[in-house]
Amino acid sequence: MLLPDRFEIGRPDNMHVHLRDDERLSLVAPFTCRQFGRAVIMPNDPEILTAGSLAAYERRIRRVTDNFDFRPLMTLKLTHRTTPREVELARELGAVGCKLYPRGVTHGSDDGIDDVRALDEVFRAMAGCGLVCQIHAEQADSFVLDREFDFLPSVLGVLERHPDLKVVLEHVSTAVGAEFVASGPDNIFATVTPVHLTCTLDDIIGHGLRPHNFMCPVPKRSSDRDALIAEVCKPGQRKFGVGTDSAPHDRSQKERPRGCAGVFSEPVALSVYAAVFERWGAADTKVADLERFCSRNGADFYGLPYNEGTITLARDEWVVPTVYRSSRAHWGKENPLDEARGGVEIVPFLAGEVVTWRASSPASSEV
Ligand SMILES: [Zn+2]
Repeated sequence: MLLPDRFEIGRPDNMHVHLRDDERLSLVAPFTCRQFGRAVIMPNDPEILTAGSLAAYERRIRRVTDNFDFRPLMTLKLTHRTTPREVELARELGAVGCKLYPRGVTHGSDDGIDDVRALDEVFRAMAGCGLVCQIHAEQADSFVLDREFDFLPSVLGVLERHPDLKVVLEHVSTAVGAEFVASGPDNIFATVTPVHLTCTLDDIIGHGLRPHNFMCPVPKRSSDRDALIAEVCKPGQRKFGVGTDSAPHDRSQKERPRGCAGVFSEPVALSVYAAVFERWGAADTKVADLERFCSRNGADFYGLPYNEGTITLARDEWVVPTVYRSSRAHWGKENPLDEARGGVEIVPFLAGEVVTWRASSPASSEV
């Protein structure tokens, strides 16, 4: 059975996104705001290490998202210099969580964590003040396809030592990772990206090199993708939710000898999720399960009320643009950098391809 040609779900949340800064921020943020009522903003680029820089970054985001019904949910990046006091200060300023990057696993993680146990005091402070711990679960020195599997014992250790700390296994990418979360205690949750629900490693290196599909963790085997789909689409499933991990880079940073990790998936995110549920969701609960995944599970885990309002999904094929460019007019004279650098060019996920679903909300123009 197909999804209806047009239907509404509660306004969704995106529990993992990279909005960047400067002209990239103003280019990409509207794609998030048009679809999502809230988004958890990642702290690696720009790097957010203190409560003060978190508040300043939130102000910059609010400046470009002012016209939308949107709330950024801020996070702090954990390093070995992070103190319990700093995370409490971040909480007082409205932060929802702290992100743990193992050192060297992805873009902006050079000062990441190489001894998870050393954070125990910080974890206690986070649990004490209600901050969620978002984990990029990859073992940096392992073979690329084994990195998530090899890091799971570290996640398990955190869960066991800190049963009061809420932990998100971000962008889960393997069958074993999905099973780890599905069968885990109530304080573990996972975000799932549109890329991991639709791609395998073949979509990056199997048919010519496709750098714009490259992200960390890399999409893996078809058996991993299928296991993620099965868990996400399971009727009543509450442990998985939207986290697009949309991570835009300028084209020049992707198409070079050592290209950056990150896929700009935001423009097509809800279209892809809807297509996955249409194809693989349970016949009679597709819409309810899609809504739970997009608009309920993340809020429930973070302890947030549901967003007000709805978003409409309509069956309406469109071609994804091959590139998005920053508009100089948008910045005018305020941003001399834009003139000097000639603006940004970002290639989206599924560039040039046809997608089936179009998302729109009453408060905004169509995506
Ligand atoms: Zn990310």
